[in-house]
Amino acid sequence: MDSKAVLSRINTENIEFVDFRIVDLLGRQHHVTVPAFAVDEDTFANGIAFDGSSLVGYKGIEESDMVAIPDLASAYIDPFVAAKTLNIVCNIHNPDGTPYARDPRGIALRAEAYLQKLGIATDAYFGPESEFFLFDHVRYASGPSGSFFHIDSEEAYWNTGKEEKNLGYKVPNKGGYFPVQPTDSQADIRNEMCTLLSEAGLKVERHHHEVATAGQGEINFRFDTLTRTADHLLLFKYIVRNVAAKHGKTATFMPKPIVGDNGSGMHVHQSLFDGDTPLFYEKGGYGNLSEMALFYIGGILHHAPALIALTNPSTNSYKRLVPGYEAPVNLVFSKGNRSAAIRIPVAAVTPKACRIEFRTPDSTANPYLAFTAMLMAGLDGIRRKLDPRELGFGPIDKNIYDMSPAEKADIMSAPGSLAEALAALERDCDFLMAGDVFTPEVIAAWIDLKRGELEQVERTVNPKEYELYYDL
Ligand code: GLN
Ligand code: MG
Ligand code: MG
Ligand code: MG
Repeated sequence: MDSKAVLSRINTENIEFVDFRIVDLLGRQHHVTVPAFAVDEDTFANGIAFDGSSLVGYKGIEESDMVAIPDLASAYIDPFVAAKTLNIVCNIHNPDGTPYARDPRGIALRAEAYLQKLGIATDAYFGPESEFFLFDHVRYASGPSGSFFHIDSEEAYWNTGKEEKNLGYKVPNKGGYFPVQPTDSQADIRNEMCTLLSEAGLKVERHHHEVATAGQGEINFRFDTLTRTADHLLLFKYIVRNVAAKHGKTATFMPKPIVGDNGSGMHVHQSLFDGDTPLFYEKGGYGNLSEMALFYIGGILHHAPALIALTNPSTNSYKRLVPGYEAPVNLVFSKGNRSAAIRIPVAAVTPKACRIEFRTPDSTANPYLAFTAMLMAGLDGIRRKLDPRELGFGPIDKNIYDMSPAEKADIMSAPGSLAEALAALERDCDFLMAGDVFTPEVIAAWIDLKRGELEQVERTVNPKEYELYYDL
């Protein structure tokens, strides 16, 4: 869509405001709103100036002037603002007009250009499944004098009987998958989310209650190219959070909000295409995978320890990656097996739908950086012909959670902590810098930012410490 078409849309649809959206290094969106009468072709061509020093991970105040250049193809009507508002996702540029090296969206665009330059494929497709919880109350406080944390949801009340409620529809712990109403008390809210997602341009495929007891849900929307899918994921989180807020609830995408119950992942389905031709399919092989798909898997698993510092970038991420909750722990690939880091979906799969599912990521990732990093790992695997079968990554079709320590001896594990993943990223980041997609500076900034979070968490008194040590 060009600027003339958007300006005429602003006119004919009586749009009152245009909202320019940018993303910080962590993956949080920020916005600047301009009255529609003040928007013209120059605004679209030259962008909107903003102060980059207040965004996490960006410039210091001594060089803080930045420009947001709108990508007009990303425009959608904001469903939550009273005055009719057109939201447009922007790329971040320096005042001299060059792209800002740390802009996550710019990194994603460079990755797509690099893919095309290599000539391996024309398009990389990504399909994230971002799980979330809806809670009624979250209260927390922490400080030198102590820490306190408490969450609950309507469904949790029903399960624990904390309130005097009829427990006839009690969901057993970890038995919440697919129950009908009234056990699934959030179906109407998810319907409402899906309607708004569709109106904003996403192709919604399905929604359902997830496995965890207390209000866990999932909504799936159709895969698309890398940058566009990252845009969609932020739009998805925006809509989920705002519909939840309308209902007096909060949505959280944190990977493990409840100890002892399933966490929230963001499995990412991936495939490469040359125009209309799927490149991951070859009839007859393991999971009908082509050699290219196998090498892509080899690249992801080989670089997984470092990659995971971008796909699972919170201290909480590693509380999800433990055995027993359908989250992967082991660096292997497998057909159908949900304990493996990479699953090859085999049910009802046509050549075009042939893909790999990397199950490790979670939604605390910045989607632009995470999808880019996965693509870069996969492409490195293809270029170096990294065969996962020769590198000890499977395939393994047994439930790995149930295997004995001796049987599991040769299977590699994902990093056990954010500290481990960051150390791995520091050692293994050349694959990200191929084609100047990531710069050394942005990787260093990421590691710094995340080590800062780690330090804060390590210095904070944890509720469990009271239980273990208070009366010792
Ligand atoms: N919640 C699980 C995870 O943490 C996945 C459950 C599922 O989608 N089958 O990855
Ligand atoms: Mg799913
Ligand atoms: Mg799921
Ligand atoms: Mg899945």
